[in-house]
Amino acid sequence: MTPPGVVVVGASAAGIAAAESARRAGFDGPITIIGDEPHPPYTRPALSKALLCGTESAESVHLPTPEDGIDFLPARAVGLDIARKRVTLSGGVTLEYSGVVIASGARARQLRPDGAGETVLRSLDDAVRLREEIGGANSGLVIGGGFVGTEVASACIAAGLKTTVVSRHDTLVPHLGTDLSNLITRAAIKSGVVLKPAPQQVRLIGTDRVAGLAAVDGSVLEADLVVTAVGCRPNIEWLDGSGLQLIDGVVVDQYCRASAGVVAAGDVVRVRGSRTLAARTPFWTAALEQARTAGQSLVCGTSATPYVPAPFFWTEAFGLAITISGPIPAAGECETLAGDLRSGSGLFRWRSEQGVTVAAVNHRIAVRKLRTLSRESD
Ligand SMILES: Cc1cc2nc3c(=O)[nH]c(=O)nc-3n(C[C@H](O)[C@H](O)[C@H](O)COP(=O)(O)OP(=O)(O)OC[C@H]3O[C@@H](n4cnc5c(N)ncnc54)[C@H](O)[C@@H]3O)c2cc1C
Repeated sequence: MTPPGVVVVGASAAGIAAAESARRAGFDGPITIIGDEPHPPYTRPALSKALLCGTESAESVHLPTPEDGIDFLPARAVGLDIARKRVTLSGGVTLEYSGVVIASGARARQLRPDGAGETVLRSLDDAVRLREEIGGANSGLVIGGGFVGTEVASACIAAGLKTTVVSRHDTLVPHLGTDLSNLITRAAIKSGVVLKPAPQQVRLIGTDRVAGLAAVDGSVLEADLVVTAVGCRPNIEWLDGSGLQLIDGVVVDQYCRASAGVVAAGDVVRVRGSRTLAARTPFWTAALEQARTAGQSLVCGTSATPYVPAPFFWTEAFGLAITISGPIPAAGECETLAGDLRSGSGLFRWRSEQGVTVAAVNHRIAVRKLRTLSRESD
């Protein structure tokens, strides 16, 4: 009989990285990654950028196949029994494990309770559908001015759509900090985006398909294509009754441990620090770094390298390619290391109580160098 091995729930960035990390840390038993999507694992950041703009195909976003000895099982996990060390799959099959990785990520948040008729962007299928819809529309309305909403608006503008973004904030991507947010907002408006404040208590209109927004004052905004881009929710429902601490995510310690033999990583995770419970950090690099720790700690406990947040993020919209290392929002005075922020290219630094943030805007710099610059305090 095969001994129980490591079971990973979620076949995306965090799941694959955790599986590979457990292997590198010396685990030589079976590793099975369970994924409920109909595609081989793919890179999600490309969905709202090259894929949506049509410069990359759906096939080109697939992630490299993990090393030998890591198996995929297309299935949906519906329950976790940490006492018996079992994952239950839809259909009732159970898998025993010696260690389990929770990497079930997040899904797009929707505004209607059942999400009926709403267009969102989270999966490869969403992106392929949205690209087609952009191609057939004359006008687009994006609800939400975060980074996904902004990238979708950019793809709409590039395709020639009359594009409106409705946001609770008066600039786009405000969580990057005032300077970068203003830069992106200026570029968006220059490209033709109409940015409107989200009215209080809006209601989506349209039944089979959302056709617009209605505000309580009776004003209505309509478009051929309406996209909801209002953040994401962690996929934790399958863990109900597991006994794990679930607070808008799976709560883990600095070794990404949720319980004995249970680790978690990626968009589904909230890391408890010495004093506070951090918010989820639904970004690619955080997912990979948490996964590295999770895989190691499953094998070697507290000899693993603990997870220390080192924020790193990138976005591309309206002709601006921005890569940021360090805490966001970037706060304090903007120091120019190269180029000029108003002209939209160069290397910039902010220092605040939170730390040092460095951003490259349309400026080539090695990731390692950018990260090193954000660690320097002088
Ligand atoms: C459009 C878009 C653009 C992005 N752009 C950027 C960017 O530019 N920069 C950046 O840093 N980050 C970006 N991100 C965020 C980044 O993609 C995520 O942080 C990353 O994908 C998280 O990986 P993950 O493995 O934790 O979760 P996910 O990628 O969400 O994967 C979780 C997987 O688990 C599966 N799953 C869920 N529940 C179950 C279950 N019960 N059983 C089996 N399988 C299950 C899901 O279907 C999914 O395949 C973007 C995200 C999106 C949606």
